[in-house]
Amino acid sequence: MKLAARVEKVQPSLTLAIAAKAKAMKAVGIDVCSFSAGEPDFDTPEHIKTAAKQALDAGKTKYGPSSGEPKLREAIAHKLKTENALGYTADNVMVTNGGKHSLFNLMLALIEAEDEVIIPAPYWLSYPEMVRLASGVPVIVSTDEKNNYKITPEQLRQAITPKTRLFILNSPCNPTGAVYTPDEIKALAEVVVEKDILVVSDEIYEKIIYDGAKHLSIGAVSAEVFDRTIISSGFAKAYSMTGWRIGYLAGPVEIIKAATTIQGHSTSNVCTFAQYGAIAALSSPQDCVEEMRQAFALRRQVMFERLNAIPGLTCPKPDGAFYLFVNITQTGMTSLEFCDALLESEQVAAIPGIAFGADDCIRLSYATNMATVEKGMERLDKFVRSHS
Ligand code: GLU
Repeated sequence: MKLAARVEKVQPSLTLAIAAKAKAMKAVGIDVCSFSAGEPDFDTPEHIKTAAKQALDAGKTKYGPSSGEPKLREAIAHKLKTENALGYTADNVMVTNGGKHSLFNLMLALIEAEDEVIIPAPYWLSYPEMVRLASGVPVIVSTDEKNNYKITPEQLRQAITPKTRLFILNSPCNPTGAVYTPDEIKALAEVVVEKDILVVSDEIYEKIIYDGAKHLSIGAVSAEVFDRTIISSGFAKAYSMTGWRIGYLAGPVEIIKAATTIQGHSTSNVCTFAQYGAIAALSSPQDCVEEMRQAFALRRQVMFERLNAIPGLTCPKPDGAFYLFVNITQTGMTSLEFCDALLESEQVAAIPGIAFGADDCIRLSYATNMATVEKGMERLDKFVRSHS
């Protein structure tokens, strides 16, 4: 079967594949400890589910505007203005089928053949593939574990060429958990303005930060960088709404209009009644977000301590998201060998770092309950000791 050349250039999503494998093993009764997908184990908070059920009962079951329900776009613009100091109105916002889809729409709206997109590595695995699907060229810039895997302004400046269209910034970062400080964000913003490129800021983990780390949206640094910024985010991580598929894109009106046109010819609109759940998420007290954040903070502490007691494994303490990015160099295994053997012999699911552009690491998600964290760390300890 002859397929389009564009699919030959991309790999299936390994995060989704390994998470599905772990779920399938669990379904047949195997006692798997899954640290694979970044999916909070909490149920969606009750008031959000109630709002969606009420919308369903009220007949919000029809097509809606491609850009999203007006009330939700207004609520998102209000959030971005009051929490992030980004002066958007509803016209600057579109609602998408998850954060992944907002980035995908954006790539199709902005990238032409051969346009370069700068992606710091380790990166979330879908970024390069989306760029390739849009016929662009991912330019991968490797970052250093000693610098907590953050791209420096010099590295960004050096990677920029006349073909550079876009820089993808992800803070807090999936997979490393790194959070750029406000000063680091300001220094990157200077380069974006000086070189006159666009930046997409993926802020899906903004609410999940620890130990007093501060989230600054790059678009809030100056009027010049605001004009060159597009925000991508969603409800999945902060409100435990992964299956709802509600994300958003915010940025200059021309870009939002173009991305909305693309959405209008692909998915039409996001599930109408689900958007009412998202409105409730933004317009209700945020205690549920803080409760989940505190649970993640506790798990992070336990997992980090247990991990660093295992000889041969190291990782920086993450300031955000819900992942540990663990260096496995001393085991002598590739990340795929390590993860395959770990799942096979100890029934612990982890994501090989090769998927994120770092074959000397594995990613462990602690968006799972404490009992699994404890049991999984014991098994990981046994595995590493028996392989050293
Ligand atoms: N973003 C999550 C992760 O990295 C969900 C899976 C995916 O969409 O890749 O695990």
